[in-house]
Parts: sequence; structure tokens; C-alpha cells
Amino acid sequence: MAKKIVIVGAGVAGVNAATKLVDNGYPGENITIIDMGNDPYNRKPEEVMTGFLGAGGWSDGKLTYHTAIGGQLSKYVGEKKAMKLMDEVINNFKRFHPKPEEVQCSNPEAEPDFIKPYFGLRLFPVWHVGTDYLHEIGKNWYDYLVSKGVQFVWNEKVFKIDFESRLVYHTINIIEGQYAVEYDELIFGVGKSGIDFAQKLQNEYHLETEPKSVQIGVRFEAPQHHFQKLIDISYDFKLYRKFEDKGVSLRSFCTNNNAAYVAVEKTYGDHSYNGHAKKGEKYRNDMTNFGILMEINGIENPFEWSRNVVNKLQFGGTGLYYSPSRIPSSTSEGENVSAFQIDNLNGVKHVMGEYWDYIEDFIKDMKKVFPSLKDDWGVYIPEVKYLSPEPLVYHSDLALMEYPDVHFVGDALSARGITVSGAQGILAVEKLIKPVDNWMDEWDNHSGDIVHFR
Ligand SMILES: Cc1cc2nc3c(=O)[nH]c(=O)nc-3n(C[C@H](O)[C@H](O)[C@H](O)COP(=O)(O)OP(=O)(O)OC[C@H]3O[C@@H](n4cnc5c(N)ncnc54)[C@H](O)[C@@H]3O)c2cc1C
Repeated sequence: MAKKIVIVGAGVAGVNAATKLVDNGYPGENITIIDMGNDPYNRKPEEVMTGFLGAGGWSDGKLTYHTAIGGQLSKYVGEKKAMKLMDEVINNFKRFHPKPEEVQCSNPEAEPDFIKPYFGLRLFPVWHVGTDYLHEIGKNWYDYLVSKGVQFVWNEKVFKIDFESRLVYHTINIIEGQYAVEYDELIFGVGKSGIDFAQKLQNEYHLETEPKSVQIGVRFEAPQHHFQKLIDISYDFKLYRKFEDKGVSLRSFCTNNNAAYVAVEKTYGDHSYNGHAKKGEKYRNDMTNFGILMEINGIENPFEWSRNVVNKLQFGGTGLYYSPSRIPSSTSEGENVSAFQIDNLNGVKHVMGEYWDYIEDFIKDMKKVFPSLKDDWGVYIPEVKYLSPEPLVYHSDLALMEYPDVHFVGDALSARGITVSGAQGILAVEKLIKPVDNWMDEWDNHSGDIVHFR
């Protein structure tokens, strides 16, 4: 009898996990995916973080292909296996893409001289899927999983999980109340939109965790032509600099070009910023946006510190925008990006203290490297990557030390991007299946009831 698998979160990690299972003959009827968002047919563009493929379904669709980018993977499985898992994720995105031939890889090979001595440039390959295609990919992918019998529960929030009696409690909207689903194996992939729930579980079950650094900064936006020289070399350029003695490093993060839009992320009721890019010509706005993110080590309670800073950088129920010359841009749907425009940075400096100087210096030096930039830019404040403490897991299947039938995956564990999240989803379920070759052997050797599941 195949085990009953419940996946909490139909995000990148959860969907890749389910795909790995059914691709290898696991009965879809034994897999239930619960998500608080919508299926890909009903998901609206403003639902940036929830629904089929989660935050990845409305992201910029840049699939980074390097173990140093996007969170932890090689620490669990080593370099070779990590690359293999990432290949599987990229192939899944191509496989359900309406025009797979348009998925291109950029792979910059050398740091250009003109950025030196102010910045270093991280060099790594990226596969570009494109935000607008993600929607189509989502539909094709979803149809495939449904055709394999996978059970989906949409618009229901999981609010409690009993690790002892193996029950997942979720809301039911139609009849007021709650419902509990039983599992043999649980895949927990709630992403950033569920980070508070993940934290709650960590506290409730006293899970042993590893502390993380603070990752905070701004989303920078400017007309693209100022950066074109660098974009020609590396579309998703990562400029970086390190201040090792201070425990601080900075990098530009998740660059979007051509049809580039700033997106609001809602976490813990606060607004922070991110960005995405569309592919269709009709969306072209010739803008560039990217995060300027600081990694700060040595802060006690980094998670609480970040939350507190983000909370103080809000005004009128939204985040802040500062520019010496511009106003906030609009979203791809023509609405204003929600942000309160401030005319000076005194309040921000007060909240972020000495750390704000690093960001200001980064921008000052960009003006030297890209001389046409001058005052033609704006920043959305803050951008944040909440890295909740990472629960300790077995490296082979990302199961909790204390509860080996509960697997943490994706941003809820230690990922920070699509490829690594998907790869962690696959890794978590690999042990539940046998390689197809073995399965075929068993098929040849037996008739009728084949037990190929662990
Ligand atoms: C605007 C934007 C652009 C991005 N661009 C890129 C990019 O170009 N490249 C890249 O690599 N990464 C990008 N990212 C990050 C990337 O999307 C995430 O790292 C990735 O999606 C994480 O995958 P996940 O499966 O862990 O979580 P997610 O994909 O976020 O999925 C989590 C799912 O869990 C559901 N959920 C949460 N809590 C509950 C609950 N209590 N009950 C039921 N369901 C719940 C949510 O509805 C969601 O569908 C971007 C993120 C954003 C927001």
C-alpha cells in the first residue's frame, strides 16, 4: 500500500515533489496538496505569493543554476547531486512551457573592467522562463498532476499540524469549521507567505534550529539604459561587495529588465518589495529593478530584528519610496505600486542606523560606474528576505530530526529561490519511490499488486 502523502503548500517545492512522485508511478490519489491560494486558472495577478506554484508562479521566472545562489542545497547532498536535482527542476519548467525553445540560458564568463574597483560581479548561469509564461506553465503542470490523480484542496489555510497524531488541520470555507487530514508523510512547503506558521511550529515543537543572518535592503529602480552595458554581459547581474571585519556584505539581487515591475510582498501584515519581469512586448517599460540586499551577521535574534525594522519602515499601511527625481512606477496591470513617497531619508536612517550608510554608498558608487544614472533612480523600502531559523533536518530527505515523517522544503527550510526550492521538494520524496528501472523490473517479475513504494 502506498503511503498517504500530504503536501502543505502548492508552491514550487510542493509541486516538484508531487511531480517527482507521479512521474515515478506513485498513485496520485495518495497525494493531497493543500494551499491557501487559488488554482492556476483562478489565480489573479495580484495574488503574488499564493496559489499554484506559489511565489514562483508570479515571479520573474529566473531559474538560477549554481549551488552558491538561491539557498542551501549542496550542503545536504554535495555539488554533483545538487546540480542533478536542479536540472530536474529546470526540465520540469521546460516540459510544461508552451514554447520551451524560448527558455534561454545566460552564462556570463568574465567580470568587466568598468565595474572595478567598486564592485565584484558574481558569475553564474540563469535560465529565463518569463513571468507571463509562468501562468501558462502553471496550467499545463496542474492539468498533468490532476490527470495523474493528485488531489488538490484550494483556498484552505492549514492552521495546525499535529506531528504526534499525524493530522493536518485546515479551514473549510463552505461550512464554517475545520477539517483534519491524516498523513503518513508530510511535505511542509509553505514558502515565505507561510513563514509565520513555520515559525509557530518550530516554537510549538521546540525544533532544534540553526540561526540565520539578516537579509535586508531596498528595491532599486531606474530606466534600463543606465545599466545596459552591464545587462549585455549579464541579464541578472549580481554586483557585490564585502566588509568582512563588519560582518556585512551587499549584493544586487534579482535583476529585472525590459518589462520590469516592482511587486509588493505582504508578510506579517507589512509591505516589502520584490520585482518581476514580463516577456510580452506590450508590457515593455524599459525599466530595470533589483534588490540591494545586505547580509548582516552577528545580530542577536536576526529574525525578530528584521521584523521589527520592516515594521518601522511602514507608513499608512504600506512601505516607503524615495527618489531624488522620480515617482513610484505602476504595476504591469497599470496600478500604482503601493508605497508612501518620502522626501528625505532621515527616518529610514534612524531606523536602520549605520546599516543605511552601506546602501547609500552602494548607490553612490553605482553612480560612478554608470555615469548617466545621476539622480534618475528611486528606491522602494524595505526589501527583506526573512530567513527564519533553519530547522535541523536529515540531509538525505530533509526530514526533521525529531519527526522523520515530516519534511521541510523550499523557503520554509533554507531555500531562497525557485531552483533550490524545487530541488528540495524532489529530494524530500526521492526515498519514497524506487528508480523507474527497479520499478520496471518489479513489474516484469510480478503481476498484479506491485509494491514499489517504501
Ligand atoms: C515577486 C517575486 C519574484 C521572484 N522572482 C524569483 C526569480 O525570478 N527567481 C527565483 O529563483 N526566485 C524568485 N522568487 C522567489 C521564489 O519565488 C521562491 O523562492 C520560491 O517560490 C519558494 O518556493 P516554495 O515552494 O518554498 O514556496 P512558495 O512558492 O512561496 O509556495 C508556498 C505555497 O504555500 C502556500 N501556503 C503558505 N502558508 C500556507 C498555509 N498555512 N496553508 C496552506 N497553504 C499555505 C502558499 O499559498 C503558496 O502557494 C521571487 C519571489 C517573488 C515574491
